[in-house]
Amino acid sequence: MSADLVILLILIVLAAAIAVSTVVALYTRRKNKLPARPTAEVEAPEPEKKAPEPEAPEPEAETPEPEPAAPAVVEAPALEEPEAPASRMARLRRRLAGSNNALARGLAQLLSADRIDDDTWDDFETTLITSDLGVAPTTELVEKLRGELAIDGVSDPERARSVLTRELTALVSPDLDRSLNLDHPDGKPAVVMMVGVNGTGKTTTCGKLARVLVAEGRTVLLGAADTFRAAAGEQLETWGERVGVRTVRKEEGADPASVAYEAVEAGIEEGVDVVLVDTAGRLHTKTGLMDELGKVKRVIEKLAPVSEVLLVLDATTGQNGLIQARIFSEVVDVSGIVLSKLDGSAKGGIVVQVQRELGVPVKLIGLGEGADDLAPFEPDQFVAGLMGE
Ligand code: GDP
Ligand code: MG
Repeated sequence: MSADLVILLILIVLAAAIAVSTVVALYTRRKNKLPARPTAEVEAPEPEKKAPEPEAPEPEAETPEPEPAAPAVVEAPALEEPEAPASRMARLRRRLAGSNNALARGLAQLLSADRIDDDTWDDFETTLITSDLGVAPTTELVEKLRGELAIDGVSDPERARSVLTRELTALVSPDLDRSLNLDHPDGKPAVVMMVGVNGTGKTTTCGKLARVLVAEGRTVLLGAADTFRAAAGEQLETWGERVGVRTVRKEEGADPASVAYEAVEAGIEEGVDVVLVDTAGRLHTKTGLMDELGKVKRVIEKLAPVSEVLLVLDATTGQNGLIQARIFSEVVDVSGIVLSKLDGSAKGGIVVQVQRELGVPVKLIGLGEGADDLAPFEPDQFVAGLMGE
């Protein structure tokens, strides 16, 4: 073999090497220029906050893999498992006890006083009134306690505690039926309407309640009849997706009654157990409210009876909440109250006032923004929470 031939061979190998490295360099440049969006828009739900973000693959010059890793969002998000009732109750009771609750603080003060004199009673009375218990229930309670505790005095804190527990429990009307009416004897779904002023927690409560019902093994459909903002429907849909519940919704500005109608219609067709209808609360006049909610209810009732109308009240709004309760109860037949935001600085006394005012039981309480922070209202547990037990 001649020297020429060897040189020719070396040249060919060099040329090939240059060609390969140019291709690789070009490919890498192109890949870096493209933002980390590997495939065309995938019609996929918003990735759950918890889902780990897929790391964009490091471009590697040596191995020009033409196919980037498939994005994780294409896969349907894993369904969440709602928290079991028992652990939920224990957790939420602790939260109630640990909350910055004026009533709980007042009770603790009374129980820890060395001597209950007139000043102590006055302070206690003030605390009760400022914790939204209302004047009449406060007077009743203080009179009873003074009568009972005057005999034994505070020398026996155990007894004082048990008297307090008994009287407080009596105030929250322990005999009321607080179960949700979810019967559907004629095979149609039970329909639950969620009503209340904007911002009280209607949509959140619909979402949380859907989870509770799913955990109980019921099938649920959501109706997004708050059509004032597109975001309201999306918010509800996101709640539903997390537990595999479908949401019937329409475009922003659509007639709320027609959404409610279609939701119930779909619920009947699909044979679900419960249809939860979220409504709008940004209604400025009572007539507007009456027209709107009345219409939603009437239209639903063409298809199936409304089993529950749950009024959501923000427990932190105190007297305002009571005024709202009054207005809503004149407009629709409220069958139960959801007291939201009882965590934080809420004043638990509102439970007593709102039940007296409307003659309707508090059925559910919201104790946080978390997905499983909704609990049935249980008078004993509630009082135990207030007493810090
Ligand atoms: P809507 O306008 O009545 O539908 O109210 P939303 O459901 O949108 O809730 C309004 C705000 O209140 C949201 O930020 C919720 O996370 C919050 N919220 C709802 N329920 C509770 C609760 O029980 N505790 C706390 N801390 N926040 C809540
Ligand atoms: Mg809402």
